[in-house]
Amino acid sequence: MNISVVGIGYVGLVTAGCLAEAGNRIFCVDNDVDKINMLKEGGIPIYEPGLAELVQHNLKAGRLHFTTDLKEAVEQSLLIYLAVGTPSAPDGSADISTILSVSKAIAELMTEYRIIVTKSTVPVGTHQKVSDLIMSKTNVPFDYVSNPEFLKEGAAVEDFLHPARIIIGCDSLQVREIMKQICNPFMRKGNRIIFMDPASAEMAKYGANAMLATRISFMNELSALCEKVGADIEMVRHGIGSDNRIGRDFLFAGIGYGGSCFPKDVRALIHSGRAHGLDMHVAAAAQLANEQQQAMFADKILKHFEGKEEKTTLCVWGLAFKAKTDDIRESPAVYCVREFVKAGMKVRAYDPEAAAVAKQALGNAIEIFDNGYNALEGADALVVLTDWQEFRNPDFAAIKAKLKKPVIFDGRNLYELDYVGRAGFAYHSIGRKTVSPAQP
Ligand code: NAD
Repeated sequence: MNISVVGIGYVGLVTAGCLAEAGNRIFCVDNDVDKINMLKEGGIPIYEPGLAELVQHNLKAGRLHFTTDLKEAVEQSLLIYLAVGTPSAPDGSADISTILSVSKAIAELMTEYRIIVTKSTVPVGTHQKVSDLIMSKTNVPFDYVSNPEFLKEGAAVEDFLHPARIIIGCDSLQVREIMKQICNPFMRKGNRIIFMDPASAEMAKYGANAMLATRISFMNELSALCEKVGADIEMVRHGIGSDNRIGRDFLFAGIGYGGSCFPKDVRALIHSGRAHGLDMHVAAAAQLANEQQQAMFADKILKHFEGKEEKTTLCVWGLAFKAKTDDIRESPAVYCVREFVKAGMKVRAYDPEAAAVAKQALGNAIEIFDNGYNALEGADALVVLTDWQEFRNPDFAAIKAKLKKPVIFDGRNLYELDYVGRAGFAYHSIGRKTVSPAQP
């Protein structure tokens, strides 16, 4: 089948690559000329495990076509997927202006029946706005599908190829059949397609993200109380997660959620509630707790070095908002780094994949290294901000030798308290007691 994907970012490129892998011919449209030229030559603008191989393989096989020409894509494809950004507007609502401008352009280019499929996260009612807009521009028949994307950055290809579920929000039975054909290759183990109306599909995406954000914020809030009362959040997590009704996933305390989805989607949900005269109390609390969690961790470090900020150098491991991605959008790690710099501290940072984007965002404010151990040289403490696998079992002797003082602040609870204490470190983590270096 010929399919277009408009917006070749994290979601669009993964969608295009995976649909091509299933044998479809995909027109990938983006208005970023440099990005399209890079992709045409086999370059991959983002880091996502397995994505480079997938894209390069399908490019070679002739199933992926990269273009800035929307007209060519609309002419050639029965289905047009929208995967453009829907960032936060200043009032917290989701800015769907790109969705609307692309929909208008498609309407003006359509000469025969087309199906518009929205992958982007859009507020309830967007299906109606887009449909009304297209109808106001053309008499050519079309259908609209809300197909929210649930992939996780860092496991996006895997999530797309083996989804927990696919939600198709569409009332037309014929279109549901077409969507089923497209989704079937990813449903070999059993049908996990859930059909519903477009409004419910749009809401399901916000509901899922806000629920996950709330779980994180609740654990983070508990972790702060654990520190006050002498409990250990890791023990508490095991105790809570063993209840089947709760489950073990998504219960890790840390420095707060970030990325391009949870913060903006929680804000948009709160805004949607307000627009309909409802206070979304739980979502608002999750948001507040998240902001506080980031600030509390940065403060812990600032307090530790109070009065000596100008003479303090921190080695930071991790800038991405989580492991296995180069995405630093709303990264709590970047928030902390900015706080350190604001206080007058020097920062020597390392991230396995996010160095280039972090350099763009932070400029000369910090020094970025291509090796975690080189970044440690002469620093007053190691601060772990992202849960990259390679940080989990480091060479503690080498860390100790390179730091001025053996101090670790761990925003991801990667290490065992006793082990790090025995290795000779003062160790500050989240929701656990502070460890002093063990006496030999
Ligand atoms: P992104 O910023 O990585 O990609 C958006 C792309 O759209 C960019 O390449 C940009 O150049 C392109 N674009 C912008 N305006 C355009 C236009 N007029 N014509 C053509 N291309 C245009 O965004 P993303 O992270 O892939 O997110 C896209 C949507 O998917 C958002 O609504 C997001 O909330 C949702 N989503 C994201 C994730 C995720 O993990 N990133 C997961 C699920 C859903």
